[in-house]
Amino acid sequence: MQASDARVDRTAHLKCRESRDRDSIAPVNDVCDPEPGESMAGNDTIASVHDAGRRLLTEVESKQVLADAGIPTTSAILASSREEAVKVSRDVGFPAVLKIASTNIAHKSDVGGVRLNLADEDEVSQAYDAMMDAVAASSPGAEIQGVSVQAMARPGIELVMGMSKDPQFGPVLMFGLGGVLVEVLKDVAFRIAPLTTRDAADMIREIKGFPVLNGYRGQDAIDIAAVEENLLKLSGFVDERPLIKELDLNPVFAYSESLTVVDARIVLEDA
Ligand code: ADP
Ligand code: MG
Repeated sequence: MQASDARVDRTAHLKCRESRDRDSIAPVNDVCDPEPGESMAGNDTIASVHDAGRRLLTEVESKQVLADAGIPTTSAILASSREEAVKVSRDVGFPAVLKIASTNIAHKSDVGGVRLNLADEDEVSQAYDAMMDAVAASSPGAEIQGVSVQAMARPGIELVMGMSKDPQFGPVLMFGLGGVLVEVLKDVAFRIAPLTTRDAADMIREIKGFPVLNGYRGQDAIDIAAVEENLLKLSGFVDERPLIKELDLNPVFAYSESLTVVDARIVLEDA
């Protein structure tokens, strides 16, 4: 493949992901075709961040390596100035979202680093300044790469998926209901990786909130097959990448016909 072909394909790939997020009519498995030769790209990003002595992948980097592994994410494009953020928001469409992109801020909302539902270019521009002021006040000394610009995802049922390492059992996968429910009720299920198909099916069904996923009182059921499939993909993903120490997808929005990762955080091993 020629370099120019690869560039054309990458542009098509980004356009596909952007329009998918904007139109929000994502079909099952709403992953745009992978870019040619990108299957190892996630590994390269992880290795290069680790080699650079960093332990926290930004949201943009985390979503990139997940998307490379075929796990659907909302696109997140890095902009390093107010002007660039405005330009990118025009491309991704409104309402837009800005999030702080920093190599040492793990919880963005805690430092005023998430601005949702920005209706137009003016709102993006103002939110950029307000966010930079808030982050500078609450996290002096943080290394800021810029902002992650993305489209607002349509509302869905909020889920969480994650991985942490147990000293005895190694990687353990977590699944649960997201948002306030996960914080207050701790309604989560765990399985040792790698997951079997049965593990994935069981952990979804054993949380107390399962009826909420399965169409409680006439509400649409979420696409449980897509959740199972992505838990299995996530299991394979962490299994192939021992440098990952911790992974947190919170929230994942689930719909009746698909799901998408809205926020992602990947932490690497020290040594
Ligand atoms: P953090 O967890 O680092 O504080 P998040 O990226 O999870 O930041 O953003 C906080 C909340 O904002 C999320 O839980 C979600 O409800 C909402 N949110 C974030 N990104 C989007 C998006 N692209 N579309 C819709 N809602 C979003
Ligand atoms: Mg989050």
